[in-house]
Amino acid sequence: MTATPFTPASASAGAPDRRLTPALRLRRRMRDLLRLETGAARLEKQVRDYVTGGLALFWKRQTIYGGAVLLCGFYYDVRVAILCYLLLQYTEFFDTTLCLRIMRWKGGNLREARRYRNLLLFSAVQSTAAICVWAGLVAWMEGVSSHFMPLFFLFAAGLFAAVNNHQLPQILMVRLAMYTGVFLWIPLYDILNVRPPLESFLWLQLFTVVFVLFFVIECSVIFLRLYRRGLDQLDELRHERDRVQAAYEVKSQFVSVVSHELRTPLTSINGALGLLRTGAYDNDPVKARNILEIAQKNSVRLSALINDLLDLQKLESGQMSYDFDEIDLPALIAECVESIGSFAQTYGIEIAYTPPPADIFIRADRDRLHQVLDNLLSNAVKFSRRGERVEVRVSAAGGRARVEVQDHGIGIPPDSREKVFGKFTQVDSSDRRSHGGTGLGLCIAQEIMTAHRGSIDYTSKLGEGTTFTIDFPTKD
Ligand code: ADP
Repeated sequence: MTATPFTPASASAGAPDRRLTPALRLRRRMRDLLRLETGAARLEKQVRDYVTGGLALFWKRQTIYGGAVLLCGFYYDVRVAILCYLLLQYTEFFDTTLCLRIMRWKGGNLREARRYRNLLLFSAVQSTAAICVWAGLVAWMEGVSSHFMPLFFLFAAGLFAAVNNHQLPQILMVRLAMYTGVFLWIPLYDILNVRPPLESFLWLQLFTVVFVLFFVIECSVIFLRLYRRGLDQLDELRHERDRVQAAYEVKSQFVSVVSHELRTPLTSINGALGLLRTGAYDNDPVKARNILEIAQKNSVRLSALINDLLDLQKLESGQMSYDFDEIDLPALIAECVESIGSFAQTYGIEIAYTPPPADIFIRADRDRLHQVLDNLLSNAVKFSRRGERVEVRVSAAGGRARVEVQDHGIGIPPDSREKVFGKFTQVDSSDRRSHGGTGLGLCIAQEIMTAHRGSIDYTSKLGEGTTFTIDFPTKD
């Protein structure tokens, strides 16, 4: 059987931290990449949303500026109106050119996204400054007065930013900070010049400005929050999509591995039966029996594989039912050792087990625990050399029972934990591998032990042997 590494954790991470296992390194690297990818995607979306909104509002802004220049030219000063209008048109030109460039941008690069965000910030500072200069000049021309027009203009500009610039909080903050500065400075300037009593309308004007400012800021926060929530939901959807995609890939990989594993023994059975059907061995019963033995071995392997697959499916879908009962652990181990006896004999292995002097009772599912112990014992036998001994020990201490299965066989190379407990993975996956098996046994054993509030682990030295240990709570 050709074992195919199935778990993605068997891939190499390539990160330099040698204290981490490759699986952990890979997981960390994937998490970092995901974070980076999410950060880049999020900023790119923010930049694109800002630009799309900005371009869509182009004619609205032009209408507002047109109205402002008419009012300013008619009621205040034509030269100031034209100068400020030209200044604004320059900032519009800069901003629109930049937005069109960003629209052509292919995306997918965090550094580029940051650069565009900064350029948009610079552009926003320019247009905000132009509006502030305009409002400031009108207020200055008015002298000490109610400043209805410039203050209302600034209020409208602040509200416009709150509603339309929430995609990039940095830009929104800068705009609001600049408008707030001029908004407060206009009434404050009059107060500082005139030093009126508190009953004066100039003070009332300042207080009204503070009140309105609070409203604009509140509005910005609401829009900002709504937009952020939308972005978070989008991120969640993106993660969910990636998760589903990964699960789908794992599933299809699993199906192809399973098909392969099922086909191998079936091909062998088919071949054996085909050979016998030709009648070529009708007069050679010894050869015919050999061929039948091959077919039988493969059908045993096939049914073991199907049983393991059914167990795995039940475990993964949470449908494995356990029938917990009080179990005499040393007696159960003796039973397992006895039942594996003839298998061990064919390998020329002796299994040594001395039951402990005291009883050890646990709560467990007898059949499932039998399955785990069978797996450990058959592995110990399979991976030992002819004539070697397998020792089984059981002990209890501190409310926990512990079973050890020790062999002196080929051992397991370091860093093979993923393969040992993985699905369809075997440490020696080469075609020269001399031991049969599905590569599912220990993966299933691990799940069964978890269901028993226990654990399974091993220590091993290559060429010297392996000790598998299972551990679970004893019955009080
Ligand atoms: P299999 O059906 O292949 O034995 P398991 O899940 O039981 O599947 O074991 C997975 C792999 O772990 C084995 O193929 C083998 O490479 C390694 N392994 C398990 N037990 C031992 C052991 N006692 N000595 C050496 N290698 C072992």
